Amino acid sequence: MVPVTGAGPDCSIVGNAIERGYGITHYTDHFGAVTAIKGLWGNGTQYKSAIFELDKSKDQFVDKTYKWGVGPYLDGLFTQSNFGIVTEMTIRLAARKPAFASFFIQLKSDELLEAVIPLIQRVLRDYQGIVGSINLMDKRRMLSMFADSPKGNDQHQIMSDTQVQTQAKNLNTPSWTIAGSIYGSKSIVKVAKKEIKSIFNQIPNKAIFSDDPVILIGNKVINLLPEGLLNRLAMLKKVKGQLDAFNKAKEVMQGKPNRVALKLAYWRHHKGADSFEGKVLSPGKDKCGLLWYAPLVKMKAHSMREFVEFVRKTCPPFNIEPFITFTNLRHDCVDSTIPIVFDLSNPAAVKDAHNCLKKLVTQGCKLGYVPYRLNIDQQQWLLDKESDFWQTVNQIKSILDPNNILSPGRYNPR
Ligand SMILES: Cc1cc2nc3c(=O)[nH]c(=O)nc-3n(C[C@H](O)[C@H](O)[C@H](O)COP(=O)(O)OP(=O)(O)OC[C@H]3O[C@@H](n4cnc5c(N)ncnc54)[C@H](O)[C@@H]3O)c2cc1C
Repeated sequence: MVPVTGAGPDCSIVGNAIERGYGITHYTDHFGAVTAIKGLWGNGTQYKSAIFELDKSKDQFVDKTYKWGVGPYLDGLFTQSNFGIVTEMTIRLAARKPAFASFFIQLKSDELLEAVIPLIQRVLRDYQGIVGSINLMDKRRMLSMFADSPKGNDQHQIMSDTQVQTQAKNLNTPSWTIAGSIYGSKSIVKVAKKEIKSIFNQIPNKAIFSDDPVILIGNKVINLLPEGLLNRLAMLKKVKGQLDAFNKAKEVMQGKPNRVALKLAYWRHHKGADSFEGKVLSPGKDKCGLLWYAPLVKMKAHSMREFVEFVRKTCPPFNIEPFITFTNLRHDCVDSTIPIVFDLSNPAAVKDAHNCLKKLVTQGCKLGYVPYRLNIDQQQWLLDKESDFWQTVNQIKSILDPNNILSPGRYNPR
């Protein structure tokens, strides 16, 4: 299984590892899965690890399998930086396990957030190595994947609570959805499924597993129905859409990238998301407006609730939908990814989106929500070039790329 993200098959796996991205597959930390790098520094010097240089054998195998090398760890200098170019990267793939099941736990009430967090923590701790990371998404975020924006041509207003409730009712969307996957032998998956189910059963929920008979039969039945019938019966079409998305999400969890998550980027497109239905989605080419806010948050129930309130309060004044996802990296830390989706053809919307992100970042840092990745604008206005950390980065830059030829300013405030 390749360490994939939701960004689809056209995005660079090398670029994502270099950005220290992560995903929901078996190796969640994507740079963690990188075992060897070869490259060139900006000054033209070649980079090979010390182990590679020492190894005089024919296949020089150990460099590829042993991540940390010997001596100072320089591979990391290629990540979130502008010191060099990676020309070769070795990525550890996860072996496909004999059995797999993804799970989707649905919570009806928003108030259950606090109660479910210790349960997610428990699953992550007790099933380390069997369960990958776990995603927790709110209702609006789920709707952005399944529903069409109800605002029609007025793409610069968020959904009212009533609209959210109507859409959620139509599409059976719960307040919170917890998604994860179990990898292992047949019997391990069977036992883990049972135990995970009983852990979440401490609170009211609806659990769906990808290998549940209802899903398997549903897939079979819906695929047998003639296209004409599906088009005539809106409800069936919706069910098919949801099953397709469900199957595609499962594929991503098995390391096969696809475009299922890209629909989100079209939510505010001035042409309307439905005008892209059936087409190969390419948010960059289609001029979608999307910025990310990706802060790390303490995995404590009250901290996560405070964060949710913070996002729900901060985004609407800028006409930005507060879409919330948490990816639980460890049992003590979550990363939240807030997609700021806007109509790129509307200058007011572009301005609002950037101001919203700025407010989230500046206010968030005061509250301890610190982004783990920054876009190129933020790297300039947020990072303090006089600080000890960035001064040291500058000193390294002056040695590895003295003429400043590589991505000037990238993770290197000037
Ligand atoms: C809908 C959606 C969902 C997403 N979900 C996730 C997710 O779940 N997890 C996640 O981590 N990300 C996610 N992303 C972000 C996305 O995965 C990354 O931005 C992407 O993987 C990087 O691919 P790219 O083609 O943009 O890379 P590029 O733009 O090619 O690379 C990114 C940066 O890496 C550097 N770089 C690239 N190649 C080299 C090289 N050879 N040598 C040196 N530096 C290099 C460059 O500085 C470059 O700017 C998502 C994005 C979208 C749109």
